[in-house]
Amino acid sequence: MNEGIRSPRLIFEEKKAIKLFLWLFYIFFITYDIFYFFILPKYTTYGKDGFPDNGLGYWLYVLVFCLLPLSIYTIKKGNPYLVKYIFLFGYIMIDIVDNLLIYLGTSVPFASGNIVELLFLFFSPIFVNKKYYWTVSLGIIGKYILIGVILQDANVISPVILTIILSAIAFILLIRFYSYIKSLTSVHEELRQKEKLATIGQMAAAIGHEIRNPLSSLKGFTQLQQERYPNTNDFYPIMIQEIDRINSIVNDLMYLGKPKEIKFEKASIEEIIAYTLSITQQQAERQGVNIETIMKGPLPPIECDGKQLKQVFINLIKNAIEAMADGGEVRVHVKVLEENKMYISIQDEGCGIADEDIQNLGDPFFTTKKDGTGLGLMVTNQIIKDHFGELKILSELNNGTLVEVIIPIEINKFKI
Ligand code: ADP
Ligand code: MG
Repeated sequence: MNEGIRSPRLIFEEKKAIKLFLWLFYIFFITYDIFYFFILPKYTTYGKDGFPDNGLGYWLYVLVFCLLPLSIYTIKKGNPYLVKYIFLFGYIMIDIVDNLLIYLGTSVPFASGNIVELLFLFFSPIFVNKKYYWTVSLGIIGKYILIGVILQDANVISPVILTIILSAIAFILLIRFYSYIKSLTSVHEELRQKEKLATIGQMAAAIGHEIRNPLSSLKGFTQLQQERYPNTNDFYPIMIQEIDRINSIVNDLMYLGKPKEIKFEKASIEEIIAYTLSITQQQAERQGVNIETIMKGPLPPIECDGKQLKQVFINLIKNAIEAMADGGEVRVHVKVLEENKMYISIQDEGCGIADEDIQNLGDPFFTTKKDGTGLGLMVTNQIIKDHFGELKILSELNNGTLVEVIIPIEINKFKI
């Protein structure tokens, strides 16, 4: 989970886990052997008396301790993520050699294993790394199977079964960790988003009003001038159009600051789409974009705030047109889905959206356009959410984008 992002914080976490692991590894490894070779034989008939002189003998301990300087060197080299693998493979290899030296060519039944194997299994979830978990489980199982095959000894079956059971438990722990971390991350992300919104909201509330009032007088006077001197100036329509643009940006900002009260009324989706097209038609023609609508009727009226839904489709169709600098075709599909839902999709053949940008869609001020505001999708998202609907964006770079809006036809029925 954490190997992709090598932030100092995560590296610090990994080092902490490694340190704890190393301590436990050596403590378990040594105490288990002391217990097995010295204490157990004194009081019971189990265990072996004294350190073994067969197999690797003392070399086993020397080799296992050699893993430590190797690990410290790896950490110093800035690769703490490797240490857990060094220990796993180091231990497995040393253990295989030791067992083969002890059992190969003898008729002594195989009986081996150190409690550190339990440590490997149970400790694997704390690294929160699925790859490592699978390496540990399969590595230890593989070790027993390999030894079993070489020694032709069926006694390896019980440690294999035990390892599988313990792996299953460790897997549950790992999945819990993952799910917990995922929720934490998404809660954090939500908070971050809310904070951003709150800041924008305050800013919008403060300046939105200030801009709107002078803007409406400006528009009024411009219209008055236009009526008074209809033949003197070609720029009046452009001036009015630009004032409207500023107004719509301010409205978007105001929407975020104080989400408007939604007035749910029955409205015809055909009318909403027709209105949207009449607004965007001019821009489409200018850019050589043809808009085709396919409505699979009969379409029932939907319970919505018509004005706001118009805003949604204006934003989405404008985005589609703006994505096609060299013209093309935008297809608007409308149909009823079963379960009381209306489906509206807008498909363009435009520039598409890069993978790394997909996650930023809907973030305030995220735009890739020279004169974009990066507010359209955010407002769109908010309105659709207020309508208990969902917005999906599928895009392929340089091929086009499909935006799907699904909203309930009857809100009350939906809420129940
Ligand atoms: P703006 O249109 O002002 O840039 P939006 O919130 O409407 O802001 O869109 C944000 C960004 O999402 C755009 O700048 C663009 O990069 C991307 N985008 C949205 N819709 C499309 C689309 N249909 N095709 C390609 N890119 C899109
Ligand atoms: Mg836009």
